[in-house]
Order: sequence, then C-alpha cells, then structure tokens
Amino acid sequence: MKLIVRNLKLSLDEDIDALKKLVCKKIKVSEKDFKNFRIVKESIDARKKPFINLVYSVMVEIEGKIKVRESTDISILEQETEKVLVPGSIKLKNRPVVIGSGPAGLFAGLVLAQNGYRPLILERGECVEKRTQIVNRYWTTGELDPETNVQFGEGGAGTFSDGKLTTRINDRRCSIVLEEFYKSGAHEEILYKAKPHIGSDVLKKVVSNMRNRIIEYGGEVRFNSKVTSIIVKNGSITSIVVNDKEEIPCEVAVLAIGHSARDTFKMLFDKGVEFIQKPFSIGVRIEHPQELIDRAQYGEAAGHPRLGAADYQLFQKLGDRTVYSFCMCPGGVVVASASEPGMIVTNGMSEFARDKENANSALVVSVEPGDFGSSHPLAGVDFQRKWERLAFVAGGSCNRAPVQRLGDFIEGRKSTFLGTVKPSYTGGTNLADIHSCLPTFVTDSIKKAIPYFDSKIKGFGMKDAVITGVETRTSSPVRIPRGDTLEAIGIKGLYPAGEGAGYAGGIVSAAVDGIRIAEKIISTYSYE
Ligand code: FAD
Repeated sequence: MKLIVRNLKLSLDEDIDALKKLVCKKIKVSEKDFKNFRIVKESIDARKKPFINLVYSVMVEIEGKIKVRESTDISILEQETEKVLVPGSIKLKNRPVVIGSGPAGLFAGLVLAQNGYRPLILERGECVEKRTQIVNRYWTTGELDPETNVQFGEGGAGTFSDGKLTTRINDRRCSIVLEEFYKSGAHEEILYKAKPHIGSDVLKKVVSNMRNRIIEYGGEVRFNSKVTSIIVKNGSITSIVVNDKEEIPCEVAVLAIGHSARDTFKMLFDKGVEFIQKPFSIGVRIEHPQELIDRAQYGEAAGHPRLGAADYQLFQKLGDRTVYSFCMCPGGVVVASASEPGMIVTNGMSEFARDKENANSALVVSVEPGDFGSSHPLAGVDFQRKWERLAFVAGGSCNRAPVQRLGDFIEGRKSTFLGTVKPSYTGGTNLADIHSCLPTFVTDSIKKAIPYFDSKIKGFGMKDAVITGVETRTSSPVRIPRGDTLEAIGIKGLYPAGEGAGYAGGIVSAAVDGIRIAEKIISTYSYE
C-alpha cells in the first residue's frame, strides 16, 4: 500500500531519521513496516523568522495494508496506469522534422524518438560542447557569432541559465520533464524540491545526454543546420530548406525556434505564416550582495547549509504597468546574451552551487503592443532591437554593457564610480546612464517600485546595487497562432511550439509544450 504523507515539519538541524519518525507517528506504523520511502516535496517555510522549517511530503510504501483515515495530510496513492500513446492512422512518408533544440524541440524530439518516429532535429547553432567555447569567446572578446550564442545552439536559450524549473502551469507532463532531466543527469533533488534548479554547469551535461538518448532511440540531430525556408503546397508543408541549399521533404515539422529567431520569424512571415503581436516586458538586471538577500529572507539562519542561497520574487502594480523581478539567479552572474551584432542584451545564470557573490534578477516592466509604435505583426521585434542598440551605444559602442549604481539611476545621473557591489556581467561594462536606453515609462516605473521592493527585501534599494542594461528577451514578442489540431493556421503539418510561438514561458513550460506537440503528432500519424 502506498501513501502520500504531507505537511511534515523539520527544524533545520533535524535529519531524515526525524522525518521517518514523524511519518510513523502520523500514520501509526513502525519504521520496519516501510517497504519504500521517498521525499516527493521539500520546501522552506521562513514566514515565522527566526524559526525556519523545512516542510516535506513523502511517499511511503507499507508492507500489506493498514487502516488510515485520508485527510489533507494523508492520501492513499492509487495504482498509476501509464498513458500509452496510440499512433494515428495517417501514414507519414517522411520522418518528422523538429526545428530547434531548445527545451521544446528536445522534448518533442525525445518523445517522438521514444515512440519510434526517428525524428530529424535541425539546430542552427553548434553542439553544446563547441557552443560553450564560442559563448566564452564572445564573453571575453565581444566577438559575436550570430548562429551560436546564448540564445542559439544546442539546448536553446536556457543552457546558460540558472536552470530554474519552476513553472506556473499545472500539467501532468511537468513530472515527465523533471524525470527525463533526472534520467539525463540532473541532480535527484529536482524531483522533490519546491523550487528545483539544475544549474548551468550540470545543464550542459544534461543537454548532451538528452541528445545521445534521442540518437539511441533512432533520432538524428544535426548542428549548424538553419532552416532558411519552408515549402508549402496546397496548404500543407511539403519540405524545408536548410542553409539555403538542402531541401528536405517532410509532411510534419515542429517549429521550436525560441523567442530570438528574428530572421526565421521574418522568413516565416514572408512565407505566409500568421503572426500576432504579444505583450512582454523589458527593463534591467539588478545585482545585490547574495548575503543581503539571504539575511532579508532567512534572518539569523542566513547561510545555513540546508537553506542554500535565498531567492526572491517581487511584484508591484503601478497604474497600467506592472514592475516585477524575473528570472532571479541566486549566487549567479549576469550574462551577455545578444544574438545580433551591435546590440547589448542581459540575462542571468547560476551554477548548481549558486555560490557566487552577487544575487541578480531582471527588474522589468510590462510592455503592450500599443507601445511598439506599429501594427505590423513583427513590430515587437523592432521595439526590442531599438533598446538593445541604444544599450550598445550607452555602453560606448564597443560591445560593453552600460552599468549604473542604483543610487545614481534613481537620482538621474550617470555613474562615475562603483560602490561595494561590482557587476558580474560576463562581458565588458562601462559606467553610463541607463535612462538613455529604455523608454521613460520603464525607467519611471522601476524607480517608483524600488521603495515597495525595499519594504519587502530590506536593503533592496541600497545605493550601491548595480543595474545593467538592457533586459529585453523576457518572452516572445510574437505569437504564432495554432488551431485545434495545434498546427499553424492554414498550414497543415507545421506545428509551432514552445516560447517562440508564444505558448510557453520558461524551460519547463516550453518542454511541456514540446511533449504536447509530439503527442498530437503521434496520435495523428504513424511512421514505420
Ligand atoms: P529556445 O530555448 O529558445 O530554443 C530554440 C532553438 O531553436 C535554439 O536552440 C535556436 O538556436 C534554434 N533555432 C532558431 N531558429 C532556427 C532555425 N531557423 N533553424 C534551426 N534552429 C533554429 N527559463 C527558465 O525556466 N529557468 C531559467 O532559469 C531560465 N534562465 C534563462 C537564462 C538565460 C540566459 C536565457 C536566455 C533564458 C532563460 N530562461 C529560463 C528562458 C528559457 O531558456 C526559455 O524559456 C526556453 O529555453 C524556451 O524554450 P524553447 O525550446 O521554446 O526555445
């Protein structure tokens, strides 16, 4: 008999034996009756500082049957029946093609491969091993490769990230994503931590293991293979063109190109694929000492090894705009994330240990299609480019990012020195005034929000905090609408997926969308 037992509270100094004892007390059994015991959730309750608890849910399997009364804290686990995917009746002549190897493409590819569809995955950038070298070169010399960078290449946009696996979606496929990441080398704790993260150092290994698993299942992965055109005949996709030369016939293509494939968006738009404008957010990256965040969140317990580096999530509505923290990276670095030359883009990354000096997070303000200045479906891309170019100029037009002390930003003057917080940006930086590279409504909203945020995280408004501009790739500026069959409107066989298509925001939701698309393809088509 299997049970889930919840709401088990431990102090920071109690261990797994104390947890087992709590379970025994709660369901009135002895530890020797346990056949199986597994933590399924661990979260931190820091609401009543200085008392901080770790709160657990566990799965416990008991030899034989016992009498328990089900409640909010105890439930009997029913026998799980595995969902079997039944292939559809339409026979595919060609194997499915997956365009892009970010989370959406990798998971679509993995599920198709596991079910015998032998997908061909095409990725414009390099494999993760060579990509790491090319990205490091950009960070040290400013020499940008427009095909292989922080946005493009194997693993997609999140490869140089914190690998946070939190998501707001509630979908049964989320646990498939975590399980598959774990099977590919992520730490076991991602299966039970309330706020799991893989860490960029581990994620690179996970991505290459996933590729090898896809190949073992019969799939193929090609790098340096940019899809430069699609051929559509009588409303159906018939082939795709790679690197302007090789035509590959296909009746099914998953379009998992991410939110930064601006040239591919343009190509698809010119080919008649429907796009609509979509809101997103822009702003800056802000850095504080990690110690300050730990103390604000955990008080005297800050630094306890069971707690790790603290995170935060901030949100303030100001009139029509919302200011919020985004993609917070505890103990991480700010990464140079441009994908086009002459532009500066920020984002954040942490390794598994989250042990760097600074905490960073995007501080962004919502922007609406009305801000783009044009009704053209791709106007959001031009809006992003405008601020990224101005950030390049503000940084001295030499591939350096503009940075400013928060105190100077609030007082509206260019920084002339840095205080106690040093920028961790992976490229070069120059002191600047960030007002020149963001719309006034964005800078004004951020300034207004700082006192609110300071009241939640003591010290958040410290003058020496550092801001780096500009954060523009928070989510896709477009949506590629799809119909009930999940295909692009009016193009049979073309399946927009993931963040670039506007159906996901983050690693897990993009991966879930990739699985959803693969399941749809499997239930529609068969391939032998
Ligand atoms: P992407 O990951 O963008 O993948 C698209 C892929 O398609 C790319 O590899 C690209 O090279 C390829 N491609 C594009 N055009 C073509 C073409 N024409 N032909 C062939 N290939 C093409 N999210 C989180 O949940 N947690 C985090 O901690 C986190 N941190 C992040 C840190 C950074 C630095 C960045 C940039 C993003 C971060 N994100 C994070 C966001 C997350 O990475 C994305 O939400 C996610 O990767 C989207 O997945 P996707 O598969 O839809 O697209």
